[in-house]
Amino acid sequence: MTTPPVCNYEGSDYQTSFWDKGGREYEDRTEAIALKRLLPESGRLLLELGAGAGRNTPRYLGFERIVLLDYSRTQLEQAQQRLGKSDKYIYVAADVYRLPFIAGLFDAATMIRTLHHMADAPGALAQVKNVLGSGGVFILEFANKLHLKALLRYLFGRQKWSPFSLEPVEFVKLNFDFHPIAIKNWLKDLGFSVEKTLTLSHFRVGLLKRIVPTGILVFLDSLFQWTGEWWQLTPSVFVKARVAQDGIMRHGQDAILSYFKCPDCGHSPLVDNVTYLECSSCSRKWEVRDGIYDFREQVSSA
Ligand SMILES: [Zn+2]
Repeated sequence: MTTPPVCNYEGSDYQTSFWDKGGREYEDRTEAIALKRLLPESGRLLLELGAGAGRNTPRYLGFERIVLLDYSRTQLEQAQQRLGKSDKYIYVAADVYRLPFIAGLFDAATMIRTLHHMADAPGALAQVKNVLGSGGVFILEFANKLHLKALLRYLFGRQKWSPFSLEPVEFVKLNFDFHPIAIKNWLKDLGFSVEKTLTLSHFRVGLLKRIVPTGILVFLDSLFQWTGEWWQLTPSVFVKARVAQDGIMRHGQDAILSYFKCPDCGHSPLVDNVTYLECSSCSRKWEVRDGIYDFREQVSSA
């Protein structure tokens, strides 16, 4: 099975260099506000796609259990150090195009600053739709190609690509910006209904961030976020989408093993062999080491 290339943060100090020391307190705090406005207050099981080092995970307080998914194992190790090992957090290294979960498993999913790296965004979104249950909520953040700076650059002839066209723009390898209408079309085609749209980072301007106290920028941004219902001209947009209710009640199972399916052949359940999970249908083996389930590549000999 061939899947699109993934952007790999393996061995990256992204959390430290971008967030902790990168002057992103403003962006981080505005995201916290948006999440509070969009997330259900409580829930059983949430899937965090592109969890990285778990920066946003403590914000999903109302959920009984959270599955942190990232392609990079080292990012998940950092998340483990931050959040600890417990039954509340499940760490999974996997490719978003080959999610190792049974259909309809989750009652919520989040994908923040992650779609940005997807060469096949509709393909990734279809995977998310598949693992969400009836009435499931999906909080999606995407980088907006129609942001004010791009618009001005284009109008003044200083940028070749048009921010108005619907196709994604890859401005750096494996870094994509999307048109808000394209995102909404993809979500609708998959059967989601879009319930809310918030715009973020209205003041992501270096000079402003240096001279205006962060608290004031965060407060102003929190007011402007609501204008996302009418127009989206900021670099970052949050969408709350929901899967239609099908009226079928599903049993919430607590056994973690029951969550997984083989990402290659789709078989479930897998067999727990302590250091690896084995697929009884295609005999592939998936590593379990130090509390991290790894579905990226099968174990050659276990
Ligand atoms: Zn299999």
